[in-house]
Amino acid sequence: MTIDRRHFLKLGLGGFLFPIVGCGRPAPVVEERMYVFGTMVDLAVSGAGRAQAERAIRTVTARFLQMHQDWHAWKPGALVELNRAIARGKRIKTDPSLIDLIRGGAAVWRASDGLFNPAIGGLVGLWGFHADEMPTGDLPAREQVESFLARPPTMDDITIEGLEVSSANSLVQLDFGGYAKGVALGWALDAIEHGGCENAIVNLGGNLAAMGRRGDRPWRIGVRHPQGDGVIAAVETRGREAVVTSGSYERYRESGGVRYPHIIDPRTGYPAQHVASATVIDRDAGLADAAATALVIAGMKQWPAIARRMAVREVMVIDDEGNVQLSEAMMERVRFVGPRPRSIGVARGA
Ligand code: ADP
Ligand code: MG
Repeated sequence: MTIDRRHFLKLGLGGFLFPIVGCGRPAPVVEERMYVFGTMVDLAVSGAGRAQAERAIRTVTARFLQMHQDWHAWKPGALVELNRAIARGKRIKTDPSLIDLIRGGAAVWRASDGLFNPAIGGLVGLWGFHADEMPTGDLPAREQVESFLARPPTMDDITIEGLEVSSANSLVQLDFGGYAKGVALGWALDAIEHGGCENAIVNLGGNLAAMGRRGDRPWRIGVRHPQGDGVIAAVETRGREAVVTSGSYERYRESGGVRYPHIIDPRTGYPAQHVASATVIDRDAGLADAAATALVIAGMKQWPAIARRMAVREVMVIDDEGNVQLSEAMMERVRFVGPRPRSIGVARGA
């Protein structure tokens, strides 16, 4: 696999995976860029008629805006309304797309042994991450954190009957920030395929899903270096798959010289601190997103066991000192670019 670094389409704006859009022969590619889900979104469709590609892209962008509104964890919309009802101990009728998201979220919660837990929105908010700006100032008091652990919110607390949702635990506050982008990516590829286009890539703030090829070559994706601005590794996509990265370096709060990232360990109520980033490649983009978040929490020792439980095979985890660990299957997929990482270890049987 050769990478021509001149062809990186560098997204900037917080994206940490960049599609590499080199081209042997020029392929007809229709592209669109928008700002949604609090991030830059890029879509590209290759090898289809312009009108057909534009129609498919329009369908996706309209739906993304709707998802953003319905699934937002703290801005007014269907999810915030649902969370408000749960806090009051009330049952509420909600949107069918949210019902699917809750069901999917419960499945990945179970698969992750509870490390990925979209019911802990209250903790995410307590740490100050329910805001567009990065939080500053004092950390939450230990007693406040511990009040969540006394009655730990889980996806098992939720009951769904038809379109009605209720929770046995009023501390449950749903936050799909670690999952919704993956689900949206999968949905986008389905919609583009349904629109008659076979080759596409969607980049949701550095989380990508692709299918088919770009002209006569695979789509190429770069994984951002968690400790720098550059790219640490490159991957060529095979058929349909998502490449999703969760990083503890992108959103965090700083206090007393210590960084507290936005991914919270549900076992302690405190941010997960030692993994800088986790990257997962999987056909199921929602699973890849949840797994990447769970693996940041699992840490450098436990990640192979959680990856196995979640049935994700292609995994790369980088610690806060730049040491890289990968599964054997991931080792076959990536090519390291730029300066050699501090160390590279392959986890056998992961
Ligand atoms: P990004 O959104 O930067 O791609 P992630 O996919 O890892 O990164 O999602 C992080 C978000 O997931 C947090 O901002 C928060 O909304 C939510 N979150 C934090 N901790 C957890 C957790 N333990 N389980 C599920 N979601 C979490
Ligand atoms: Mg995630």
